[in-house]
Amino acid sequence: MEKIQVKETQADEFQMTESPIKTFEYLCKTVQDFSDCMEDFLYVYDLVHDKYYISPSALKRFNIEEELFSDVSETHRTFVYEKDYDMLIADLQRVIDGEVDGHNLTYRWLDREKKPVWINCRGKSIRGKDGVPLFLIGCINELGRYPVADQASGLLTNIVIKDFFNTGKSHTKIGFIMCISIDDLHHLNEWNGKKNEVTVVQEVVDCINKEMKETQMLYRLLKDQFVIIDYESESDSTECAIELYERIQSRIEQRIEQNGYQTLYTISGGIISNRDTEKLSYDTMIQVTQFILEKMREQGPSTIYCYKESEYNEFLDKRYLLSDLRKAMLNDYQRYEVYFQPIVNGNQGDIYGAESLLRFYCSDGTMMSPVKFIPLLEDSGMIIPVGRWIIYQALSFCKKCRQYIPDFKISVNISYVQILKSNIVETIENALKENKLPPQCLVVEMTESGYLEKSMIVKKVWSELKTLGVGIALDDFGTGYSNWSSIGILLPNTIKLDREFTIKAVKNPYEHQLMTHIIEATHSLNLKICVEGIENEQELHAISSMEPDSIQGYYFGKPCTESTFLNNLLGSDPAETSNFS
Ligand code: C2E
Ligand code: CA
Ligand code: CA
Repeated sequence: MEKIQVKETQADEFQMTESPIKTFEYLCKTVQDFSDCMEDFLYVYDLVHDKYYISPSALKRFNIEEELFSDVSETHRTFVYEKDYDMLIADLQRVIDGEVDGHNLTYRWLDREKKPVWINCRGKSIRGKDGVPLFLIGCINELGRYPVADQASGLLTNIVIKDFFNTGKSHTKIGFIMCISIDDLHHLNEWNGKKNEVTVVQEVVDCINKEMKETQMLYRLLKDQFVIIDYESESDSTECAIELYERIQSRIEQRIEQNGYQTLYTISGGIISNRDTEKLSYDTMIQVTQFILEKMREQGPSTIYCYKESEYNEFLDKRYLLSDLRKAMLNDYQRYEVYFQPIVNGNQGDIYGAESLLRFYCSDGTMMSPVKFIPLLEDSGMIIPVGRWIIYQALSFCKKCRQYIPDFKISVNISYVQILKSNIVETIENALKENKLPPQCLVVEMTESGYLEKSMIVKKVWSELKTLGVGIALDDFGTGYSNWSSIGILLPNTIKLDREFTIKAVKNPYEHQLMTHIIEATHSLNLKICVEGIENEQELHAISSMEPDSIQGYYFGKPCTESTFLNNLLGSDPAETSNFS
């Protein structure tokens, strides 16, 4: 598309009281004056001199360098979405040619990050006495930006809170901020339909409104989240907030009863005293709110959470750690290392395999416990790529060990996230193929977490791995959720008895008897037992009589690097094998 053709006209042809140049300056000044009073962006386009002026606030939002520019069509290229550019120029040309009296177009501009943003641009042309169009003046309105009011609940949204914070009204020690969320609104919706969701929201808002003082303010954050701001409660603000929460809750309960229990729903609350937010910026405040909402979710439905700075700092530490974990992963797994701990035969104490255990080095070089960072990898989904990398590291290590012990087995811990959210069977198959190793060299360890045996996906993956020939170990038996029924359903090849169990069996004759029976019962099912966490001779002696199939523990070797394992535990000569008995 060609550039806009500006009409060849002399300024003195216009019969206006003011010269058009002066008029342009005047219009620009007006646009500038209005800029701070509105969310939308005003503009004036001098069609004769090819100049354009837009509200200065537009520069913060769009990819526009200066509020006043010439060579209008070319400059528009820099901030109009490429695909919409020709359409815009064609439309403006009709205005310049006087074919139309205005401009009303919905198309896309680019924001500061050069991402397309839908806008509606309306304008009206002003003609000179001879009918020649002189100016186009109008308004750019960003579509769908910041709904200030939510009509369904009749509340203002958090955009208004932003203004509230930015005007400094929030800088007081008195009062509190309380988040309220409707528990599981999403599920309510699934059962009873969208209309019901609207009714529940309206009921909750009504109950809150009825319990709030006039000076307290209620805003809607998201469809199921609200925030009450109080800047007046002088006595213990947290206590006042809890009281308010309890009143709202009991009003909701009454309402549900009045409605004949047609829909059951609950709310949760989160409170922060203004003493804790006094110095916070709006952005930090939003982060704190997110933290409070997360804590509310963690605590479960129908509960109230009171903000604690130490817990927020912990939350921030976790965030930093997560970003550290991600950076290290993207940097070729730098700062991650897989350690290996020997597993020995139950009768002779010969090394028979090893368990892979992940390590992460903090920025100060200290090593962090996997108990601390594996849950973060799981929650963020990063355990999928990191877990894949561990499988490759473990198999490459196994290949080296097989030069010393031909049927060496390597165990790898697999998280339920890897099973549920990635194609773990394919990953394992490929890794075995690439390393030219038989499936029998790999044992997958999984911890029973209460719902494993109920999940169809887990059962499917479990049986596919078995068909493939990979060994399966049920980890941490004797802790948490582990129970006999899961063994019957999952039928693993091996059961690993946790150190917790081992310690009890060493100290207490009843536990010793129980452990002996478990081992016997397991053997009668043709399953193998690995006893974990043997640290000394006394513990070894106590469990040896039970004849476990394999043993693991510091007594036989702590987790160590690949090179330490190969050099110190297997010896440098591949023909030589170690005996720890
Ligand atoms: P786990 O799978 O039960 O691993 C055994 C843990 O017991 C390891 O802790 C190991 O160092 C420790 N241990 C071994 N022998 C002894 C002993 O004699 N005494 C004592 N007190 N402890 C012993 P670690 O390496 O800190 O790992 C903790 C947990 O983190 C693991 O428990 C596992 O659940 C998880 N984990 C570690 N690496 C990975 C991994 O690569 N992937 C996944 N998904 N989880 C992993
Ligand atoms: Ca394990
Ligand atoms: Ca274990």
